Amino acid sequence: MAHVVNTDLVDDLKTLGARQIEACFNCGNCTAVCPLSKDDVAFPRRIIRYVQTGMKDRLCGSIEPWLCYYCGQCSETCPRNAKPGELMMAARRYLIGAYDWTGIGRRLYLDSRVELGAVLGLAAIVVVLFVLFAGPMTTELTAEGGVKLNTFAPARVIELLDWGMGGLLAVLLLSNVWRMHRWIMRREPGLKVPLGAYIRGLATLFTHFFTQKQWLGCKGAGERITATKWFKHFCIFAGYVTMFVLIVVFLRWFQTDAVHPIWHPQRWVGYIATGALLYGVGSALVARWQKRHESHKHSHPSDWIFLVLLLLTTVSGILVHLFRINGLAYATYVTYVIHMAVLVPMLVVEVPFSKWAHLAYRPIALYLQRVQQQARETQARTANLQPQPVQS
Ligand code: SF4
Ligand code: SF4
Repeated sequence: MAHVVNTDLVDDLKTLGARQIEACFNCGNCTAVCPLSKDDVAFPRRIIRYVQTGMKDRLCGSIEPWLCYYCGQCSETCPRNAKPGELMMAARRYLIGAYDWTGIGRRLYLDSRVELGAVLGLAAIVVVLFVLFAGPMTTELTAEGGVKLNTFAPARVIELLDWGMGGLLAVLLLSNVWRMHRWIMRREPGLKVPLGAYIRGLATLFTHFFTQKQWLGCKGAGERITATKWFKHFCIFAGYVTMFVLIVVFLRWFQTDAVHPIWHPQRWVGYIATGALLYGVGSALVARWQKRHESHKHSHPSDWIFLVLLLLTTVSGILVHLFRINGLAYATYVTYVIHMAVLVPMLVVEVPFSKWAHLAYRPIALYLQRVQQQARETQARTANLQPQPVQS
């Protein structure tokens, strides 16, 4: 297959964080020390070569960037200080932009002012919609002393809007996943993938999506640090997914005017999920601020924007709850608008176009790796069953 050299590739990757990659002289030390690199998926040197030689198609068809969990060991031992771990991170940002057919993801990543502008623009639209269409604010309280939030923002209306937004995000994300799949499968044009391989591979997809366990193999920083990092990341993932399901699927159960007793599942599910989010997001922000570990030393603006949006969403959600159950009517209404003005841009900008998308692409890359492995095994078995030429 002929490859067209993309002369912008190095510059794009440098803009996305791989600033020192031209120092690499391809010694291969990084691939040798990487705890996750295997014979059939060797990285990061291979990815560095693709970038240095402008092989965009090869890069877009690679699953390797998604297999790196940024332990930093390759960067710490690189004799040229070329920061290969940061190159892998920049490659993931590049791929999120490349998979996205709208071109929005690429623009957001290459110019952080565009990402910030998109977030602020969407936030302004949400505020205007509330000013124009929200229901009446009332200081009249419920029998338990809670604020009547549903007169201002009826759960059934917000639920419909959630479904519309969720459907749009799903279409965008799934169409990008389809492009990712096509690129990866194109790298082995002779490989026939039976439907059964896609079905059998689903166990890999769900296991890695829900456990993120691949992370635990990335022991470059030591087992204890790896386990702690995995746990913090898992807290963000679990808290986020729980809140997303509550808001999109169970909003009428979750957004009530009634103040339930403390033992009610509505309260403790919400408390556990927001507690996990606060701990995970807070730890990630502090780690990036302190820059102690290699993986936290080189934050891209998109890393900060994502974490700050998540933190603001969590904190404003907690405040809405506290104000509501304590009967502080106007504080509840105003904080609810702020909460939605952060939540909507966080979902619309981050899920299909930016940092959040890695939650989908990582397990899908592992899934496609498994599918390809099974297809190769099937192909090899079929070849062995073919009649062999008779030896004379
Ligand atoms: S990034 Fe560093 S360790 Fe890896 S091949 Fe280049 S020079 Fe060698
Ligand atoms: S950061 Fe860690 S997992 Fe990623 S390529 Fe380097 S050594 Fe491998």
